Amino acid sequence: MSNNYPKIWLSSPHMGGTEQKFVQEAFDTNWVAPLGPNVNGFEQDIANYLHEDVHVAALSSGTSALHLGLILLGVQPGDEVICQSFTFSASANPIMYQGATPVFVDSEDETWNMSPRFLEQAIMDRVAKGKKPKAIIPVHLYGMPAKMDEIMAIANLYDIPVLEDAAEALGSSINGKMCGTFGKISALSFNGNKIITTSGGGALVSHDADIVAKARFLSTQARDEAPHYQHSQVGYNYRMSNICAGIGRGQMQVLDTRIEQRRRIFNWHMQEMAGVPGISFVQEPEGYFSNRWLTTILVDPEQSGMTRESLRLALEAKNIESRPLWKPMHMQPVFAGTPFYGDGTAERLFQHGLCLPSGSNLTDAELDRIKAVVQECIQEAKVHATI
Ligand SMILES: *Cc1c(COP(=O)(O)O)cnc(C)c1O
Repeated sequence: MSNNYPKIWLSSPHMGGTEQKFVQEAFDTNWVAPLGPNVNGFEQDIANYLHEDVHVAALSSGTSALHLGLILLGVQPGDEVICQSFTFSASANPIMYQGATPVFVDSEDETWNMSPRFLEQAIMDRVAKGKKPKAIIPVHLYGMPAKMDEIMAIANLYDIPVLEDAAEALGSSINGKMCGTFGKISALSFNGNKIITTSGGGALVSHDADIVAKARFLSTQARDEAPHYQHSQVGYNYRMSNICAGIGRGQMQVLDTRIEQRRRIFNWHMQEMAGVPGISFVQEPEGYFSNRWLTTILVDPEQSGMTRESLRLALEAKNIESRPLWKPMHMQPVFAGTPFYGDGTAERLFQHGLCLPSGSNLTDAELDRIKAVVQECIQEAKVHATI
């Protein structure tokens, strides 16, 4: 679509200012490699931020963190792994890398994340069919924590480890306990569109120091102790570079500011649409804190007189990016035929949901442009309603 308006992105990188200092240090000391002081420093910064006795391995992506997580939980070809259906494909793809089968579980309405009820139903049914799932992957979508108390209780009851996908939820918490510290293993992402970025990167987090040591070992080609290259396991090239980690150290200094800014954008959108019938925002349950990575809305066509698609197209016509919510994995052609437990909640969220521009670097002028389009759509819908 060609027009004269500069692009407004859904979520774009937002540097804090000190990133280049850490990158420069890496150049000055020639630590231009997938190891070095920034990697160690970034890992320590993340561990400190999570306020718990956790260990961190900085990796090349969130996807590689999830993949190593599955390997370290012993997932093998032929195994089944339970995964939230309403998510980005990177939550589920590593299950396929291992030759295992995903079993998808629907969302609940309050947080839009894994339904504890359908999780338990799925476990009981898979066990009855003779196959106990090897791991459970809940996701904190758009920064909203999943119902981890209930999910962990079920996981513990059936003795199945949780691999927590906290890629979108750095800084989110439940009663002060940070996302990324609930699972036996957790994954973070620092991709370019996430709340903080290293240009590309991720991290594996665990309370278990051995697990994290093994993640570091596997992520650097699984080299045994020897003067020559000696391998007794299949390794991966998944370690974060010292350059990227330098960006990460700078970004960690502004993470709390970024969260405040994202939450302010969320509140701004909510105020702009206050009182518009048929437009709703997902609220934080008692004790929940969301980093509000992306502001998302549900558009009820009957009550609002518009659809998420009409709003999306109106924004696109003005070169403003918005995007439908994740298309559930059980509806994706690549996962056709995989088991699914649910009642259509994720499918309905996909049909009616939209992500709005949410970047912490949105300017007042950009917010004004977004406001003009949204208000126009609301006015048009009102006119149609009165005809
Ligand atoms: C971004 C993301 C990932 C993958 O992270 P990368 O760093 O892009 O590999 C995994 N899960 C979810 C839910 C994500 O949003």
